[in-house]
Amino acid sequence: MNYKRSSALFAESEKVIPGGVNSPVRAFKGVGGTPIFVKGAKGAYLYDEDDNRLIDYINSWGPMILGHAFEPVVNAVVEKAKKGTSFGMPTEIETQIAQLAVSMVPNIDKIRFVNSGTEACMSAVRLARGFTGKDKIIKFAGCYHGHSDSFLIQAGSGASTFGTPNSPGVTQGTAKDTLLARYNDLENVSELIEANKNEIACIIIEPVAGNMGCIPPKEGFLQGLRDLCDTNNILLVFDEVMTGFRLAKGGAQALFNINADIVCFGKVIGGGLPVGAFAARNEIMNHLAPLGPVYQAGTLSGNPLAMAAGLAMLTELNTDPDIFKRLAEKTAYLHEGIARVLKENNVVHTINRVGSMISVHFDEGNVVDFETAAKGNNESFKKFFHGLLNEGVYIAPSAFETWFITDALSYEDLDFTILAVNTVAKTLN
Ligand SMILES: *Cc1c(COP(=O)(O)O)cnc(C)c1O
Repeated sequence: MNYKRSSALFAESEKVIPGGVNSPVRAFKGVGGTPIFVKGAKGAYLYDEDDNRLIDYINSWGPMILGHAFEPVVNAVVEKAKKGTSFGMPTEIETQIAQLAVSMVPNIDKIRFVNSGTEACMSAVRLARGFTGKDKIIKFAGCYHGHSDSFLIQAGSGASTFGTPNSPGVTQGTAKDTLLARYNDLENVSELIEANKNEIACIIIEPVAGNMGCIPPKEGFLQGLRDLCDTNNILLVFDEVMTGFRLAKGGAQALFNINADIVCFGKVIGGGLPVGAFAARNEIMNHLAPLGPVYQAGTLSGNPLAMAAGLAMLTELNTDPDIFKRLAEKTAYLHEGIARVLKENNVVHTINRVGSMISVHFDEGNVVDFETAAKGNNESFKKFFHGLLNEGVYIAPSAFETWFITDALSYEDLDFTILAVNTVAKTLN
């Protein structure tokens, strides 16, 4: 494939944008080579600046669950834009999308809209601290909750239970309030709670991890966290930025039948515009300003274009009850096809899948946490990524990402992809 124009555009962007990109994963550092510049997209396909057609398995990292340029969303945004793009005053559509979201998701009474998943998780943690009057939080290694300071933490050394910053600019003071636990390891969480009695405000988790590949929670893990939270007066925060409105109408809470105390949203909820949100029962949400003392605000929060896109997206998901079943079936079909051709070509691999999230790991062991996810063969992944790209199939340019299946994919697209995997598999051993 020809990437001449993408390469030229990247050379230009590098002069005026750090690393040429506005979010680091886009720079292809994990796989090498030059990022692809997109000209446009429709349905399941991306069209790049060199006029290559790519089947898209990232879908803007999740939002395009119904495909690119989905007409009801596009039309809603265009019509809204004609009436003004921002007012900094309440609008009816904010209530409409809030009513719909609250009706679709279990266990929430009120929802506050923000502009990104980062903002949603950052605000959820502040609310949890304000509500409980405690400072510390537990997060899991390998889970991503956006780039706010409290989350840019890695495991501390030796016997210390608290974390250390994993980015310059995050202070030790912030790091000491974030405790790191192993995903799928209840015993480890229990120990952290014991060692920090009455100091923990919340446990925040991706109920299905999607930022170290796709990692499902083990049977009983989420319920175990729920029980630990109940016994120790800790809030359970589900970061459903990836899973919300994707795994089911009601997200992971509905899929696993576990109630979280605070739920964070992003990605699908904005239909491709910059939207995040966090939600909870009245007793918790009423602690937020202007009702309560916990401050949180945003000039562009509840922006009419963003709300129009989100409302059109949620309306579609709410009115077509088969979407989530269809998505899971397509993903299972892809899973079986990829597993079959990798096996035929003797490529060592593990595939994880929940609903429409799936990831291929080049390792034979179970991938259940960050440690096991990091064991995968990254050289194989790089070859796999570039091989697929060359065949016209675009997956995330990092081994630590899930693929996001869109309803716009046809079974011909899936067969095309499985054939491409077969071709690439022959180069992997
Ligand atoms: C993407 C993501 C975020 C961050 O959302 P942004 O909109 O990129 O700030 C937070 N949590 C999870 C689980 C995510 O996948």
